[in-house]
Amino acid sequence: MLEIKHLSKNFGGIEALKDVNINVERNGLVGLIGPNGAGKTTIFNLITGEYVPTSGSVIFDGKELANHHPYQVAALGITRTFQNIRLFSDLSVLDNVRIACHLHVKYSVFDSIIHGRRFVEGEKEIYDRSMELLKIFKLENKRDELAKNLPYGEQRRLEITRALATNPKLLLLDEPAAGMNPQETEDLMETIRFLRDGMNITILLIEHDMHLVMGICEKIYVLDFGKVIAEGDPTSIQHDPKVIEAYLGTA
Ligand code: ATP
Repeated sequence: MLEIKHLSKNFGGIEALKDVNINVERNGLVGLIGPNGAGKTTIFNLITGEYVPTSGSVIFDGKELANHHPYQVAALGITRTFQNIRLFSDLSVLDNVRIACHLHVKYSVFDSIIHGRRFVEGEKEIYDRSMELLKIFKLENKRDELAKNLPYGEQRRLEITRALATNPKLLLLDEPAAGMNPQETEDLMETIRFLRDGMNITILLIEHDMHLVMGICEKIYVLDFGKVIAEGDPTSIQHDPKVIEAYLGTA
């Protein structure tokens, strides 16, 4: 579904990515790990059209994405979450999802959100879809709470719910477990498994939490200094001397 071929990105004199090749099969759950500054988020920014590659290509469903704008990439079915939570914190849980649904269906919800109405004619589709997603992700009882008042783990869950509102084929998750406690991380693992197994979404995941990555990904790419230094299943990655050296400084 996603093929990254010989991808390189320079920022002035910094070679952030060097000849990176990554392949994500349809319905795959693939992890991208590596030390800080290895180039992981840069890969997401190149996939989503926020950055333009220095060389190489990103192919999604057979289409070359280089020179696509972020909104065009989103329209093709790729959605991402960010390292830092980016919710509309002063809007309700429901309105956060309704706004994202608006991108997927043809009606505008902004007017009714601004004027405090629940929904106007033509918006029932958005409302129903938003409530369906909130139910799936166990947030329906929080629908009227402001996003900023949710516990941290639920804010993260709301981000994923909102990402789903655009009906993506490929979901890019950037450190979804950052700042979570162990119970929240366990819940997140269950959510991610459900996205893949219950909703057939293909997932590429950046994460520093090794318990999560090793527990749910079937394939992992390890990046170090902008290069892929290893790829394989969790067991082979954990025992790879290059990976151990990158993380611990010794094999
Ligand atoms: P982390 O795990 O800390 O989030 P990362 O693996 O996601 O790190 P990137 O954020 O992709 O790493 O950064 C890779 C390199 O590219 C770093 O040296 C970073 O400083 C550099 N870089 C990323 N974006 C830019 C930019 N817009 N301008 C200049 N340098 C950048």
